[in-house]
Amino acid sequence: MLLSLKKGNLCFISIFFVLSSNLGISVSEAQVVKWKPDPKVVPPLTYKGLVPGVSTAKQVRAACGEPQHENLWYAYKMLYRSQDSQEGWDAIHLESKDGKNGTLGVIESNSIPKGWETVKKVQGHLGQPEFTLEFQRHSLIDYSHHGLRFVFDLEGSTIGIAHFPHGRTRVHEGQLRHLSLRSKRQGPQKAPSKIGSLGNLQMGGSVVDLTPQDPTWLGHQVKKDDFKVVKNLNARTAVIQKDGKTIAIVGADLFGMSYSEIQPIQSLLKKQGIDHLFLAMSHNHAATDTIGIYGFYPKDYVGYIQKQIVQGVLEAKNNLQPVGRWIASSDELSLKGARVQGLARNARNPGIVDPQLAVMQALSKDGKPIVTFVHFSCHPEGLSRGVKETSPDFPGYLCDALQKKLGGTAIFLNGALGGMVTGDTISRTHSEAEKAGLHLAKEAERILKFAVSPQEFKFSVNVSRFEVPLTNPRLILFMNMSGRRKLHEGRVVTEMAHLRLGDAELVTVPGELLPELSFEILSKMDGYPRMIIGLTNDELGYIVPGYDFRAGSYEESMSVGPAIGPMVKDQAIRLIENQ
Ligand SMILES: [Zn+2]
Repeated sequence: MLLSLKKGNLCFISIFFVLSSNLGISVSEAQVVKWKPDPKVVPPLTYKGLVPGVSTAKQVRAACGEPQHENLWYAYKMLYRSQDSQEGWDAIHLESKDGKNGTLGVIESNSIPKGWETVKKVQGHLGQPEFTLEFQRHSLIDYSHHGLRFVFDLEGSTIGIAHFPHGRTRVHEGQLRHLSLRSKRQGPQKAPSKIGSLGNLQMGGSVVDLTPQDPTWLGHQVKKDDFKVVKNLNARTAVIQKDGKTIAIVGADLFGMSYSEIQPIQSLLKKQGIDHLFLAMSHNHAATDTIGIYGFYPKDYVGYIQKQIVQGVLEAKNNLQPVGRWIASSDELSLKGARVQGLARNARNPGIVDPQLAVMQALSKDGKPIVTFVHFSCHPEGLSRGVKETSPDFPGYLCDALQKKLGGTAIFLNGALGGMVTGDTISRTHSEAEKAGLHLAKEAERILKFAVSPQEFKFSVNVSRFEVPLTNPRLILFMNMSGRRKLHEGRVVTEMAHLRLGDAELVTVPGELLPELSFEILSKMDGYPRMIIGLTNDELGYIVPGYDFRAGSYEESMSVGPAIGPMVKDQAIRLIENQ
């Protein structure tokens, strides 16, 4: 079997890479805004005279001096202490790995220039924005055509500016130009006067190992002597049972798996009394590619994962115990510097980041945590050596810290991490990944302190299976060559779901949803907290809004096509309306 796999892979690899090179896209270009601005045009506001897409790294150093930190992230990253605060950084990202001669790509500035300190002054300078977005405690206005996005606090003070290549309008005529989530419950909430009974609600947790037991499972990309496990990979499970319905929610330190490999686990568990399995993969980039899209399909390892997930769910089912309290809350982390500093930034549309961190927790009759869920949106790709130094990245450090501090099982659920919500650590090292995980754990503990119980514990699960057209020639070839997933007249089958856990409202999506689409879906939800769970039961790649579909860009090259964005939005809104 291994031998034939190898041969099969060789011919597939060559076709795959020929195809991708023809499409002129390399994986490392994932974090570069691919747009050449008109060099004769100077944006109405610049960062020290620098123009993204035009200025060189030399000009950056001439204008800003030597950076306090500089590292190769995906592209080259330079950090400068911001002028206004001792703890903030202005982040400068080049368009390439070349820190000496590269071209300036994006600036996420924490420094606010004179005359631009408020939303009023900004609009005074630039007039009607292309798009405005209101969160509970922040707002964002978009002047993509000028290569500028501004972030404000609740009082309307400018707290961050994103500079990126000018000349490309992101939100065109006729598109939604304003979106507000301000009316939604966020931050500390008044506890209901009367807390309803939880009835026969039970929950159980478990943690099982998912670390590759044998480096040969990982194929040619990993040499035995060039492979180590820095931190174990895990599947952390919660089984939830009430009124005869039993579901399992699993947070797994995995890159991604296809629906065709998850359905067998679902049907096996169904026979064991699990009505529905939700396998939420973190999209960990320091775990191996368990889809096979990068050339090797680790069949033995996928078999091991399937077995372990089943075992984890059955263990959690065995650990079921009555729930004494169910609490939940969410809050917005600061968007100073047009990102969640140290945690998350948007490399495709700088500044457009969901600042929400949400938690849900079940406590036993004697007040001990049984399960703690933490939800945040960010690509776990903060480790430069990838699978060769296997690690769960920040989610693993986050969960371990919470389990150690609080007890019970901690489960990380990733969100709308699509194009391209990625890490904002100083460098792609294990110590920085740990720092990010512990930072999130501290924030999770902070918001747990004001978590509230719902008036009534609603427990509903609605699953919708649907078919999406696959039009990306690269993925069509991959599907046909691998033969692991059937196409139905050019469509792939996948699923989404809507869940109510008390007041908390969750919508699952089968891949990497872009934050812009997530905000439109969140605006239709009324729960507290509201969460979109990414890469659940499938990994169909990037889910891009139709109006921002850019032929030739990285996310589009790793997407089934332009149809999935609008279809996922429709499905989500239908599930929300029909709950
Ligand atoms: Zn991704």
